Amino acid sequence: MSVIINDTCINCGACIDECPVEAIVDEDDNPEDEDIYFVYEDKCVECVGHHDEPACATACPTEGCITWDTIGQSPSHREDITEDQRNNKENIID
Ligand code: SF4
Ligand code: SF4
Repeated sequence: MSVIINDTCINCGACIDECPVEAIVDEDDNPEDEDIYFVYEDKCVECVGHHDEPACATACPTEGCITWDTIGQSPSHREDITEDQRNNKENIID
């Protein structure tokens, strides 16, 4: 994974157009058949080279909805984020 959207997502749509690599899909295209937005881990670059922090999380109005996740297949990732932060799915935006 990379960043992850959890089940507190309210499907507001604020994140999807902020993603520079089109890694986010809405609930209709969620490959896990969940009624929330979804981040493709093999596309998400954690906004490296695009923004100072993940733009989806900056745009999201729901506190704690988009968190760090393990690196997995992410094409690039933020070196300053620790494994603990990822394993504990810490909030990206405090
Ligand atoms: S962190 Fe950046 S690249 Fe990853 S899903 Fe969010 S906006 Fe897209
Ligand atoms: S901005 Fe947050 S609450 Fe809105 S659709 Fe995206 S993840 Fe869900």
